[in-house]
Amino acid sequence: LQKVYGDLHIHIGSALGRPVKITASRQLTLHALIFEIAPRKGLEVIGIVDAGSTLVSAEIEQLLESGEMAEHVHGGFLARNGVLVIPACEIESREGVHLISYLPSLASLKKWQKYMKSRLSNLTLSTQKADAGIVDIINLTYMLEGLFCPAHAFTPHKGIYGFLTDSIAAQIGQEIKMIKALELGLSSDSDMADTVAETRDFTFLSNSDAHSAGNVGREYNLFQIRDKSFKEIQYSIECKEGRRIVANYGMDPRLGKYHRSFCLECNKIAEGKGPVLECECGSKNMVMGVHDRILQIRNYELPHHPLGRPPYNYRVPLKDIPGLGPATLKKLMAGAQSEIDLLENTPVQWIEKAAGPAIAGIIGTMRTGRLPISPGGGGKYGKILKNNSNH
Ligand SMILES: [Zn+2]
Ligand SMILES: [Zn+2]
Repeated sequence: LQKVYGDLHIHIGSALGRPVKITASRQLTLHALIFEIAPRKGLEVIGIVDAGSTLVSAEIEQLLESGEMAEHVHGGFLARNGVLVIPACEIESREGVHLISYLPSLASLKKWQKYMKSRLSNLTLSTQKADAGIVDIINLTYMLEGLFCPAHAFTPHKGIYGFLTDSIAAQIGQEIKMIKALELGLSSDSDMADTVAETRDFTFLSNSDAHSAGNVGREYNLFQIRDKSFKEIQYSIECKEGRRIVANYGMDPRLGKYHRSFCLECNKIAEGKGPVLECECGSKNMVMGVHDRILQIRNYELPHHPLGRPPYNYRVPLKDIPGLGPATLKKLMAGAQSEIDLLENTPVQWIEKAAGPAIAGIIGTMRTGRLPISPGGGGKYGKILKNNSNH
């Protein structure tokens, strides 16, 4: 078995010269992702969550026809450079939550589109609201031999726990058994999610939800699989035959832009223990933070990890490290195979020589622990605090 890094939630900005995801960067094309961005980041598996768009699926077909990638017999598309592309469809359900269906093949993608044709108003755009409920989408994914995963589960912005319900079991009944994966989202981690009892049967995914090249791989997973195919990724999520996710790598939840509740009246990010449901100014007009939401719905005060829950390692994306500009990054990349390799493996002494003690200190500290951070909320990201004196 081998270990590979993967990010299973990446958006496409444009395909065939037309917009796919309105909020995503137009430069973020399928071709650039596979052949430039993924190798630079060090990602060998990428999940493209806009594959349901007819524009993106047409580009997928072009790449298959030109031989730049090929369908694997066990699912997924293997590009010539060794990157495995998992086609996926992020959709907003009738209940208003974001759900991802990972699919094995072009044929299953076509069937997904056929099903959605009458349920979506625009099949070229991604993450649209569908006239289909959560259970319908679970069922569809299962029929297509895909893998179902609630996206950014705890965020106030269309996350299943953040926006809709305290309990998926209460919401959908025994169909919860069909759910194997749960995406944590940028503002939560395994410790937080494992205070909610029913998450113990889910494998956690830490994905970037990138809408621009710079954000690809800001969260990632380390998969232990045999070869790169859809089936192996599915097995790793279902923990079959030694396949598993060895570790999650994600932003410190406090860096997430929805970590704490945020008052829309006085624009203040909540402080103190929480859950904060009402601002000091007396207003209840708040965007609920992920931290505050989890405190509200949790079953345990401390995390109850199921056996074999992988470690969650806190990472700050390179571009968010204070003082690390493009020139320094270029110098640093001379000593690493990819950005992930730089974050994970490059000796700290080498980083110190190339970029100075402050940056070496931050990277060294994040490999073993947590950095001091002032939390984010209400759409603003948290920040690393300057006085990083523990080096
Ligand atoms: Zn989403
Ligand atoms: Zn998304």
